[in-house]
Amino acid sequence: MSTLLKGSVVSKSINMELTKEIEFLNNNGITPCLAIIRLGEKPDDLSYERSATKKLSGLNIDCKVFAFSASMPQEELISAIRSINANNSIHGILLFRPLPKHINEDAIKFEIDALKDVDCVNPINLAKVFTGDETGFAPCTPAAVIETLTHYNIDLEGKNTVVIGRSMVVGKPLSMLLLKENATVTICHSKTRNIKEICKSAEILIVAAGKARMVDDTYISPGTIVVDVGINVDDDGKLCGDVDFEKVKDIADMITPVPGGVGAVTTSMLAKHVVKAAMNTVG
Ligand code: NAP
Repeated sequence: MSTLLKGSVVSKSINMELTKEIEFLNNNGITPCLAIIRLGEKPDDLSYERSATKKLSGLNIDCKVFAFSASMPQEELISAIRSINANNSIHGILLFRPLPKHINEDAIKFEIDALKDVDCVNPINLAKVFTGDETGFAPCTPAAVIETLTHYNIDLEGKNTVVIGRSMVVGKPLSMLLLKENATVTICHSKTRNIKEICKSAEILIVAAGKARMVDDTYISPGTIVVDVGINVDDDGKLCGDVDFEKVKDIADMITPVPGGVGAVTTSMLAKHVVKAAMNTVG
């Protein structure tokens, strides 16, 4: 059986680190605060909102939910974002995406103050991820993958690391963060030929394809470290990853479970980013 890379362990260690910083902020009269902006009531958004508010409140980070109608006009959303930007008691902003179709996401992205953009929506922060500038905010999920690997002392330098997925939310920024750690990165996507052979050559395989249990034993060589970013609900209503855990667990050296892997670290990274944004306000 592979060693499990449990998210709860990583999360606990991040929380301990944050507790000291939050205490420092409190002593300076600051309570870190996240604004969550949600349009409509999509089950995925509501579920993430619940787990984020629970995690952040437990750390004494305030969460203010700005819930609007799914039919909110674009101009109204822009003025709501501007007023949140201007509110000094709010340090971070999380905007649920994708936005309803009538809203031009490209116009919204630049509206979120880059200094409060804790999940890397503003292209300024994305550019920082691509240039390796750590003063910005990486998206929370790719950051959670790096944090998990680092926590378990998995050295990335020179490692043959394969990422399945090239989205702007996970695959692409994650590949840049891996490059910054000196990994040798191969990015696979739906048009990649010989994907199984490429994956079999990986020392570290990170899967963010959005396809339930896509990666099975035919993709894995013995000794591989597997990180499953996927979150899917299967036909039986059961939560599962993009990796077929049962088929892979006796081949991989280490593996992140779903649930209980990267997802558990993602909300801790969100908390970490809110605290970083608040710390930036005190210099
Ligand atoms: P996405 O936007 O749908 O992107 C999926 C990527 O996988 C695309 O680049 C796609 O290739 C590639 N892909 C799809 N099928 C493939 C196949 N058969 N072979 C090779 N590549 C394939 O998804 P996403 O937003 O990046 O999310 C990926 C997964 O992570 C999802 O399961 C999502 O639920 C999960 N997720 C988890 C967290 C967390 O906190 N753990 C957060 C966000 C997302 P093309 O570009 O060619 O289409």
